Amino acid sequence: MDEISVVGYGTMGKGIAQLLASKGYKVHLVGNNLKKVKDSLKDIEKNLDFLVKRKKITLNERNRIVNNICPCLGKKSSGKSKLIIEAVPENLKLKKRIFKRLDSLNKKAIIATNTSSLSVKEIASACKNKKRIIGMHFFNPVHAISLVEIVKTKYNDNKTINEALEFLKSLGKKPIVVEDSPGFIVNRLLIPMVNDAAFLLQNNVAAKEDIDKAMKLGANHTIGPLELADLIGLDIVSSIMKSLNKSLGNKYKPCQLLVKMVKNKKLGRKTKEGFYKY
Ligand code: NAD
Repeated sequence: MDEISVVGYGTMGKGIAQLLASKGYKVHLVGNNLKKVKDSLKDIEKNLDFLVKRKKITLNERNRIVNNICPCLGKKSSGKSKLIIEAVPENLKLKKRIFKRLDSLNKKAIIATNTSSLSVKEIASACKNKKRIIGMHFFNPVHAISLVEIVKTKYNDNKTINEALEFLKSLGKKPIVVEDSPGFIVNRLLIPMVNDAAFLLQNNVAAKEDIDKAMKLGANHTIGPLELADLIGLDIVSSIMKSLNKSLGNKYKPCQLLVKMVKNKKLGRKTKEGFYKY
């Protein structure tokens, strides 16, 4: 799998592209707006410059990684790849549209979605060749979190799952295989906790700093739930809750405060303001 396409160039697309390029893969970073994709490559370059400054990588390594990433527009770019990883916004209609196109452009590649909560089977329903459609759920920040959830549907064969496992191991990740079920494992447990932290804040139970401090000191979490929401993106948290709510019932209703913040474009780190200012 020496040539890989990453479709979507936001928080996750950039993280995945940077990781793959640093492991020697040739990456096509694919989007619907070439200028914006090029801007994303500049963000990656800034990250790498920071690593050079901190002597985590050499200037040569930095340049090698950048040269491994080619920003491009749809069509041709995804056609030859052995693997395509989709990381566009958490929207079923959009993902199905993109998968339908990818399925017709490239007849052989494994096509993986990085969805946090949508049904992979539902996304695969847009494709003719469903056995190669899987979930490949990377976590944020991509380079730092070793877990990747491979989400399997009833259509997949062992060959597809084994190839995905081998590929993720080649990145130094520790993959697990999970059935296509709402929120898979991590988000089914984690995101309702983040949502409950927003309820605590909404109901004035404690200050935001103390809610975060409580989980860091009391439960030994490395990051508080509200800080985590800002890191993930409040729009993503809210859409995961909506999809858990839809499939699992009222217990998973998104907190109004969260919904209001998304409406006001306070999405966390990516918009420089969420529960905290950046
Ligand atoms: P994001 O909003 O930061 O990035 C999405 C990017 O896709 C944007 O840059 C957008 O311009 C681009 N895009 C929109 N339409 C497109 C199209 N037609 N073709 C190509 N690109 C298009 O979102 P994100 O946080 O990177 O999330 C992407 C996916 O990864 C979602 O499914 C999300 O649930 C999942 N995910 C997110 C996190 C997280 O912590 N943010 C973690 C794991 C998984």
